[in-house]
Amino acid sequence: MFKKILVANRGEIALRIQRACSELGVQAVMVYSEADREAKYVKLAEEAVCIGPAPSAQSYLNMPAIISAAEVTDAEAIHPGYGFLSENADFAERVERSGFQFIGPTPESIRIMGDKVAAKQAMIKAGVPCVPGSEGELPEDLVQVKRIAKAIGYPVIIKAAGGGGGRGMRVVHTEAALANAVTMTKSEADAAFGNPAVYMEKYLQGPRHIEIQVLADKHRNAVYLGERDCSMQRRHQKIIEEAPAPHIPRKLIERVGERCVAACKKIGYRGAGTFEFLYENEEFYFIEMNTRVQVEHPVTELVTGIDIVKTQIMVAAGDKLPFTQRQITMRGHAIECRLNAEDPYRGLPSPGRITMWHPPGGPGVRVDSHVYTNYYVPPYYDSMVGKLIVHADTREMALARMRTALGETVVEGIHTNLPLHRELVVDAQFQAGGANIHYLEGWLANRARQ
Ligand code: ADP
Repeated sequence: MFKKILVANRGEIALRIQRACSELGVQAVMVYSEADREAKYVKLAEEAVCIGPAPSAQSYLNMPAIISAAEVTDAEAIHPGYGFLSENADFAERVERSGFQFIGPTPESIRIMGDKVAAKQAMIKAGVPCVPGSEGELPEDLVQVKRIAKAIGYPVIIKAAGGGGGRGMRVVHTEAALANAVTMTKSEADAAFGNPAVYMEKYLQGPRHIEIQVLADKHRNAVYLGERDCSMQRRHQKIIEEAPAPHIPRKLIERVGERCVAACKKIGYRGAGTFEFLYENEEFYFIEMNTRVQVEHPVTELVTGIDIVKTQIMVAAGDKLPFTQRQITMRGHAIECRLNAEDPYRGLPSPGRITMWHPPGGPGVRVDSHVYTNYYVPPYYDSMVGKLIVHADTREMALARMRTALGETVVEGIHTNLPLHRELVVDAQFQAGGANIHYLEGWLANRARQ
């Protein structure tokens, strides 16, 4: 096992990794920007290094600063968390070239999965079901593009190969609108991701977002830890996640889970990862893979009893996975609500000082958060201030537990989306389970009209 790990991230995930290190008896070196001096994990840290000013480009995205911090503190490995440099293949390569272990997959795996066209091709080869679409990048010739669209059938979606964060996508309903949509998406993709390549998929009208968590070691062992339903989204951002996904036959989950494991073995994947799918009419369609730990990992931890972050560290150190697929069982139901510092219904960020922070407690309640009373939420980063996660024997009991936990939570001084969560957990459709990815947007639009 490593003696010392550098945590190259901020916010709740920095604290989450710090906790995992502490339980493993590993020293954690925390890094922070000038805006994050007051964070809880910095105060708790035995060692912490300031890596630059507030803007991420000068701190959390500053590769030389992070690698020097690892050098001066004698860390052996770097955990990238999520966001920032976590899916940057060049960073993973520089980390390894500087003699540190990157806690994540190989730079090659990150590179393939970061190019959605390459990722889809790898998945098709591994037998993972994908959204019907173009075979790779779209050609220049418009006649051919039109032919491809016709074969797929309208509506179609044009997507950037290098896209991420819900950007670089355009839905096309008619042939007349096709040429313009392709040109626009290409120029946007070039500007935003430095890669003008685009591809085409069938646009699914009312799918759910279902994802499969995997873990793999360096000895070609891989397992899947069931699924998560992340369909409650606003502007392609998840806000509530749960495990297991309601009303999906276990047989279907098992079949797709086994395909994901086969794909991991085929591409030599290691570490934690997530295969994201759209699910419609009892079919799964792969859209992309995230090659890192995800925000919503706790719901899987609660239903499987497996610590995903500790396992990431153990397999990076060369350990074999300490369980086989057969030993993984799911118990009960878990739900996570992301608590964001924002206006609850319009979603505008609301940074500032938290004058009162009173998180909930009780059996089956977990709070992952780096904030506390008198903490200042800086305006420079993602607005998430914490995650409320509950676990109970059934979905119904988990909903009741979440309703109770949300009722106990007090956050003053900033606006949060707590009122939105309180309304959603008692919403009849959400309670019924299985709402699609458009449900929340529709719900918000309806509410605004009333
Ligand atoms: P990103 O990497 O930017 O998150 P994804 O490929 O994961 O991009 O897609 C993000 C979201 O866009 C999906 O969760 C879904 O809401 C929507 N989307 C993507 N592809 C399709 C599709 N073929 N049909 C319908 N919706 C889609």
